[in-house]
Amino acid sequence: MFSKILIANRGEIACRVIRTARKMGVKTVAVYSDADARALHVAMADEAVHIGGSPVSESYLRGDVIIAAAKATGADAIHPGYGFLSENPGFVDQVTQAGLVFIGPSADSIRAMGLKDAAKRLMEKAGVPVVPGYHGEAQEIVILASKAREIGYPVLIKARAGGGGKGMRRVDHPDDFADALSGARREAKAAFGDDRVLVEKYVDKPRHIEVQVFGDNFGNAVHLFERDCSAQRRHQKVIEEAPAPGMTAELRAAMTDAAVKAAKAIKYSGAGTIEFIVDASDGLKPDRFWFMEMNTRLQVEHPVTEMISGVDLVEWQLRVASGEQVPLAQEDITLSGHAFEARLYAEDPAKGFLPAIGTLHHLSFPSEAAPGTEIRVETGVRQGDAISPFYDPMIAKVVTHGPDRATALDALADAVTRTEVAGSTTNAAFLAALARDPDFASGDVDTGLIGRKQDELTAAPPPSSRAIALAALAATGATAPVASDDPWSSLAGYAHFNALARRATLSFGGADIVAHITARPDGRFDVRPEGGEAFVLAAGASDAGATVAAWPGHVTVFENGRSFDFAISDPFARAAEIGEGTSSMRAPMPGLVKLVRAAKGDKVTKGQPLLVLEAMKMEHTITATHDGVISEIAIEGSQVTDGTVLVRFED
Ligand code: ADP
Ligand code: ADP
Ligand code: MG
Repeated sequence: MFSKILIANRGEIACRVIRTARKMGVKTVAVYSDADARALHVAMADEAVHIGGSPVSESYLRGDVIIAAAKATGADAIHPGYGFLSENPGFVDQVTQAGLVFIGPSADSIRAMGLKDAAKRLMEKAGVPVVPGYHGEAQEIVILASKAREIGYPVLIKARAGGGGKGMRRVDHPDDFADALSGARREAKAAFGDDRVLVEKYVDKPRHIEVQVFGDNFGNAVHLFERDCSAQRRHQKVIEEAPAPGMTAELRAAMTDAAVKAAKAIKYSGAGTIEFIVDASDGLKPDRFWFMEMNTRLQVEHPVTEMISGVDLVEWQLRVASGEQVPLAQEDITLSGHAFEARLYAEDPAKGFLPAIGTLHHLSFPSEAAPGTEIRVETGVRQGDAISPFYDPMIAKVVTHGPDRATALDALADAVTRTEVAGSTTNAAFLAALARDPDFASGDVDTGLIGRKQDELTAAPPPSSRAIALAALAATGATAPVASDDPWSSLAGYAHFNALARRATLSFGGADIVAHITARPDGRFDVRPEGGEAFVLAAGASDAGATVAAWPGHVTVFENGRSFDFAISDPFARAAEIGEGTSSMRAPMPGLVKLVRAAKGDKVTKGQPLLVLEAMKMEHTITATHDGVISEIAIEGSQVTDGTVLVRFED
């Protein structure tokens, strides 16, 4: 076994790898960028090396600097995590040439599967069913369009270098092909530096079912059952589970056989995932699944497999990379119960899931699970840490296990409901709504489910009167929990209240809320929001299932799995805002202005697309917030920061 490894990654996956390495008595070296100097993975590792600036191109993608750090610290091997350099065969070659071990497959295996088109050709040869489509070399639009016609609409255009759902466009009608193609190419070029695409038949009622495989350097390859990742939003996984609901013995046998065959065809070593698309329009049939791609790394959603198999996949990675055989024979790998994983992101479901940034002023995960169930939270951040624009905005993965699907899903819904984040918008309420959705619960989930129910799942009801009252009280400073039995000590901090009435001014979603607060002789407060119901509340009340977190300039109230962020009104700041006028649109996050579709003097209507902002490697269309005439608009190709004015309207 290695005595020391370097983890060439950050965030939750770096922390995850460090945990297993420590359990195995292997020392760990973390690497970090400027933005991550105080990150959790740095604190957890035995040693840490600074590798450069905050942008990934200056740090986590600098293979040479990372290898030098491994040499300098005497590490034997490098674990790449996922993303970053994990599927970069050139990096694997450099690691090996430096006399270090890459904890993952060979450069050849990665090359074989790196491009979706070549991988499909290879799998076809190996006798694995592949998605019907065109995966040849030609890239001319006339050829691709005629191939699309041959395949039959709807089709899916995919970046051959794609990953993370980027560079992908579904096309339903030939007229839309050209536009979709240029969109896919643009996104692919930006994300992968390669704009070549393939065209596939868009599978009917698609379900994404993937098989976890594991190989070693002795030619062994096993599978650890399947995961279902059909709960997707724009081709990105939201909730994953294992096993797949409704899986039959026949389909499982066919899929796992094909997956092991695929792994063996490339002499695969280490953890890998074979992703299949399944046509579930007529139930799950053993002849209706096709290879989509192989991910030659540890997958984000690997914990659900660990929960049902009891295998620590990172431990297996270290053992196999250090020269051991796959630790278990196929027949000794068993499946027990059901597991779910929900990806908690800093993003705003109400604004088309725009990635968010912010400081996690309050962060709390549930730890206690109902009897018979387990909760596991994988995270790389602590309270006080920032979600920066430089990296993936994932905050945590909330994982649950139970004896059956319904119990595990209940545990998941409960766990995400009890997750509290203040300081950044998150998708927590969306995850809870999805986990409680009756169609999701039925297990008949295709990749279109979220899209069809998006409005329902992202509905954002207003705060209750109680939440408003709690926020108002907290805004006046009465936030310390009343923990003591001694009534005098709990009152001491609020002496300034005396019997005086105070007025709290808050704003929620742009609307002002005024509340009147009076201290009562019993140490509690009468809180009366104007035009609303009055409440008697204790200071710092975590009242009737609601909790309150105060942070600079804000109060966040958590109630029934939803969080309500109230800004404490600062009259001076507000005056400045109003002076600026309401007739401008600002960048919701840092990014690049990719396309500008309107010009100065144009008369535009509300909802009309004005420009495309590329942020976090995804394109976001910015639409007019109201009717008006444009007096100023951002320049195509310009880099903008959070809050930059993108569009100004004439008065
Ligand atoms: P896929 O959708 O191909 O199954 P995943 O959902 O596991 O893959 O991850 C999506 C892609 O984005 C992968 O290329 C993965 O390596 C990358 N990725 C996901 N999350 C992160 C992250 N937090 N940091 C870096 N890369 C990430
Ligand atoms: P990525 O590398 O971005 O993960 P994939 O090829 O794995 O790309 O596809 C991502 C997702 O897009 C799949 O999980 C699935 O939901 C959807 N998808 C891919 N191919 C098809 C297809 N041919 N028909 C329907 N949906 C598809
Ligand atoms: Mg994929």
